[in-house]
Parts: sequence; C-alpha cells; structure tokens
Amino acid sequence: MNLDSIGVYIHIPFCVRKCRYCDFPSFGGKNDIDSYFKALFSEIHNEGETEGRTADSVYIGGGTPSLVPPFFIRELMDILRKKYVIGENAEISMEMNPGTIDSEALKVYFEAGINRVSLGCQSFNDRSLMRLGRIHSSADAIKTYDMLRKQGFNNINLDLMSGLPGEEAGDMERSLDKALELGPEHLSVYSLIIEPGTEFHRMYEEGELEDLPSEEELEETDRMIRSILEKNGYMRYEISNYARSGRECVHNIRYWTRGEYRGYGLSAASLIGNRRFTNTRDLVYINQPGAALQEDRILSREEEMQEFMFLGLRMVSGVSSRDFRDCFGEDIGKIYGKQLEDQIKNGFMEYDGDRYRYNDRGLDVSNRLMSEFL
Ligand code: SF4
Repeated sequence: MNLDSIGVYIHIPFCVRKCRYCDFPSFGGKNDIDSYFKALFSEIHNEGETEGRTADSVYIGGGTPSLVPPFFIRELMDILRKKYVIGENAEISMEMNPGTIDSEALKVYFEAGINRVSLGCQSFNDRSLMRLGRIHSSADAIKTYDMLRKQGFNNINLDLMSGLPGEEAGDMERSLDKALELGPEHLSVYSLIIEPGTEFHRMYEEGELEDLPSEEELEETDRMIRSILEKNGYMRYEISNYARSGRECVHNIRYWTRGEYRGYGLSAASLIGNRRFTNTRDLVYINQPGAALQEDRILSREEEMQEFMFLGLRMVSGVSSRDFRDCFGEDIGKIYGKQLEDQIKNGFMEYDGDRYRYNDRGLDVSNRLMSEFL
C-alpha cells in the first residue's frame, strides 16, 4: 500500500427491501434516490482536504448499489476521477445483489471502470435465502455470476453466511461446493449475528429462532469452511475473508492496517490522520450532506494504539513490532507485553521476531482475545 494514497468509500443506502438480519444503514424502496445522489455529489464536490490525492481503492457499498439507475454510478465515477487521481491499477469495487442487475447495467458499470464485484449470495440454499428475507434464489445468484463473467469482470467476491437458522448437516458444505464450482477470486464467509433492531432479533426474543446452531456446531462449521477453502486454494487472510493468491481486497486491508480513507454518503466513516469522522445514519443527510456528523473526533494516542492492535490482529499476517515503533515511537512489548505474552503462552498467538499473529485457534476466538487490548 502506498502510504500517501487513500481509499474512497461511497455508501448507497437503498435496497429492494430489508433483509431480516440486516443492521446496515439501508432502506427498503427507491424513494429519495435522486435527492440522495444530489447530496452525495455535493458532499464530494465540497471536499477540499483530500482533493488531488491518489486513490488506490474505491469501494461502492451499501445497501444495494446495483439497485440505482446505472447512470448514477457512471456519473459518480466521473466525479471521483475529477476529485482524485485514480490510476489504472486502482481497485474499484462495487457491491451487487442478484436479482437487481441486467446485462445493460453491467456494461455501464464495466465501462465506468468498476473492476471488482462483491456479489451478495449469502447461501446457495433456497430455504435459507427465504428465511433470511433475501429477494433472490440461488439460481438468480448463479445467473448473475455468469453475466458478470460474460461482461468481463475478472475479480469477483462472493459473500456467504454461516450459522443460519434451520440449516441441516451438509447445507453449508453444499453452499461452499456451489461457490467453488463457480470459482470466484475471493470469498467472504461471515457468521450470522443477531443484531439488535433487526427482524431476526425480534424473532429471537419471541422464541421464533429456536433452530440456531450451538456454539460447538458453529466452531465445527468454521473449521470445515477453513479446511475446504484452503484445500481449494483460497487462503484465509482475515478472520472471515479468503482469497486466491494476489486477490486479497486492497480496500479492506486499508481498514485493517489503518490506512487513510475518505467515506462519502450516509453513515460513511473517514480516517484522515488521527481524525475519525462519520456521517449521520439518518436520511437528514440529504439536506445536510457531509455536515450532519454522527461522530467527529481526534483519536488519542492510546486509542490509535488500540486500533492498531485490534484491527491488525484481524489479519492472518498480524501486527509488526517494527511498524508499531515507527507509528508510535514505543516498544510494543512495553505497552502490550502482558497481553501478548499471555496469548502466546496460552497457544493462541505466534511471534516470529517481528510480527505477532493469531494462529487458527486464536482467530476462532479473536473477539475475546482482541478485547484484551482495549
Ligand atoms: S441487501 Fe444487504 S444491505 Fe440490503 S437489506 Fe439485505 S443485507 Fe441489508
């Protein structure tokens, strides 16, 4: 990663309807799309601080960016190219959902420079897709994937979810087999989390989600996922992310290594130097683009150190003591010696003279371990 470059994130908060597990900032329906883009473009136009810098990654996420009329994506890319230097090798990702795309739209995205697609499949089991409240079937996902390849996209991520309610033995394995048959460059496999405020949370509270897997079943599934993916040439490089060699997501690595990024749109977060600021999650954004902030603060040195640890340790490559010293002028052992020593002694972490990294056992319980650095 070029240290002078930044990443750019764009949030598009519209979806066909809300999935039952979703707590992302997104709204069902297409109302407000025109006024949203007007606000988004105005926020980008008004940005001065990062203007002119090289963006080596752009990530258009949501929501469902593939739901909006494609000319908005073309215009967005034109505006970003005027604001930033976006080189030929920049990674330009866009999230898409099966059931929202046709070949005409794909052509527009491709010509606008989108060169990496993250396709929200979640499962190849139709029963699970229905239960999650997804708008598509597994056949829709396969059809969309084929259309993407036909259009020329050669860097595709598939999103899958594990730990779904009602899944029977073999269901996750069959979903993985289907994904492997398609042969994407990257796979993200996230465990279902029942987040407050979601439909699943209400169902859980009312006893309607009694068929969730147990902790032991989840751990067993995680081991199975890792083993199948690694056998098939997808290396785990972050807790939930696997890629063929050289196809790791540049944009997300920037988040985990605390590179600078500028986020635009509702709920988008930015990290510039030691300033972290986040736009509001509310649609008032439309009337106050970039002015209605939910958070805007200068991180203390202690907070920056904590972030360095708990973000960096998400990655299989872990954190470097040299980088820590370069960033903070302190020895990592002086600040976190006790935690690091304990985690090595307990068999969760390895140290090679520079890097501290979790082994598979550590990554499986990393949430608990990483909280020790807070
Ligand atoms: S498509 Fe994605 S962002 Fe939209 S509601 Fe479903 S999970 Fe949330």
